[in-house]
Amino acid sequence: MKYASVPLNQNQNGWLKDDRLPTAYPVLIGDTEADWVVVGSGFAGISFARRLATHAPHLKIIVVDAACAAESSSARNSGFIIGLPHNIGSSTAELKKAQSYRDLLQAGIAQLATVIEQQGIDCEWENVGKYHCQVDTRSERVLKEYTDNLDVMNEPYHVLDQDALYQKLGSRFYHKGIYTPSAILVNPASLITGLAEHLPNNVSVYNHTPVMQIRPGKVAQVITPYGTIKTAKVMLATNALSRELAPVTSQQAAMATFASITAPLSAEQRQKLPEMSSWGLTPVNAIAGATLRYTQDHRFLIRQHVTPALNGRITAAQTYHATRLHQRIFNKIYPQLKDVPITRTWSGTISVTRNGAPVWGELKPGIYTAGGCNGAGVSKQTIAGTLLADYALGHDNPLIGAMLELGKANYLPPSPVLDVAIALSLMKERYLGRKEI
Ligand SMILES: Cc1cc2nc3c(=O)[nH]c(=O)nc-3n(C[C@H](O)[C@H](O)[C@H](O)COP(=O)(O)OP(=O)(O)OC[C@H]3O[C@@H](n4cnc5c(N)ncnc54)[C@H](O)[C@@H]3O)c2cc1C
Repeated sequence: MKYASVPLNQNQNGWLKDDRLPTAYPVLIGDTEADWVVVGSGFAGISFARRLATHAPHLKIIVVDAACAAESSSARNSGFIIGLPHNIGSSTAELKKAQSYRDLLQAGIAQLATVIEQQGIDCEWENVGKYHCQVDTRSERVLKEYTDNLDVMNEPYHVLDQDALYQKLGSRFYHKGIYTPSAILVNPASLITGLAEHLPNNVSVYNHTPVMQIRPGKVAQVITPYGTIKTAKVMLATNALSRELAPVTSQQAAMATFASITAPLSAEQRQKLPEMSSWGLTPVNAIAGATLRYTQDHRFLIRQHVTPALNGRITAAQTYHATRLHQRIFNKIYPQLKDVPITRTWSGTISVTRNGAPVWGELKPGIYTAGGCNGAGVSKQTIAGTLLADYALGHDNPLIGAMLELGKANYLPPSPVLDVAIALSLMKERYLGRKEI
């Protein structure tokens, strides 16, 4: 008998604030019943539960998580809420897909903005856009493709050379960059915990309650260690880790990526930089390059290194390796700040599909999912969860068409073929982007 894997990160999320502990929800103990069970309390699960509960206040909805919202990838990410797709492609079909994708991302942002305002969620929301930068002059082609795409989509941007980037970022490491205004920066842990704490009254949340198995049927049984939930319907918001819960989902693979945060810069250290307010930067090669942020409280975030994590597990040794890697990268980008230490490194799971399409919809009668975030899920998983609730309830929403426009994720082979394919693909990307760090 196969039981589900749950994420295990042997490290601590650096976004959590010591003076603001997230609400502790109980463990499910004893058997119970519900109309819907949502497994996972990241952006997909929480947005799904909110929409379902708002449309159907008579339904009894239970959200269960193997850990809690504050430990999900939704709390562990770099905090970029992107409003534009990273890659577009050149055919008319790809452009149409990119336009649908943009509509979805923008709707995700709008929804998050509405809820945080209505509920007064303090998540350091900053509408500051982002930089997309290259180090190696040979990556020029990638940046040119990006600006061509922005032109086709009528999106505003401006190009910055090395000197202009220095004035914004305090580093001469980058050769060229594109600034786009369509991105928000947040503290992701404050955002997702705030969203999870403000769900409608017909939603009950249980934490530290891993779902080990789902026995499908007219009345499905959701098996957890100390209690079983009988339910008509289940939504799997488990990111990539749903293989054992619904074996039909052989379309997504779990990978992990790492982020580190430095100590806040002292006034003296800040003298070594131009006058800067907070900013965010994504690299032209997301696998090899580093995502960077300079935060409101004068710390740097470095996100780099992607590794397979098919069971969602990352060890202390892997975390330590990432810390050393991130410190080296930081010292290379900011040689003038060699005395600034990293104070925390953490990891999180992302779900990757072969063709970049999501895994979204009804997997089999009564079992729904919104997966396949492909590494960018704050706005995407928010809207994917919301639309899935509309779809499940039969509510008309024109954006469901946009969601379907993104296509279906291709089939992935099982291990060990999958492991070899992932290793080769990572090797190729690291080689192509070897000069980006
Ligand atoms: C370091 C890092 C940086 C990133 N940066 C960005 C960024 O800047 N912008 C962006 O848009 N995206 C970013 N991402 C990706 C983004 O975090 C994810 O796409 C997003 O969080 C996925 O949301 P989700 O709700 O699908 O899954 P998750 O947030 O992973 O939530 C899934 C939940 O399911 C629970 N679960 C899993 N299995 C079980 C089970 N069997 N029983 C019960 N519960 C279970 C988990 O405990 C977890 O809480 C980043 C990811 C990482 C790791």
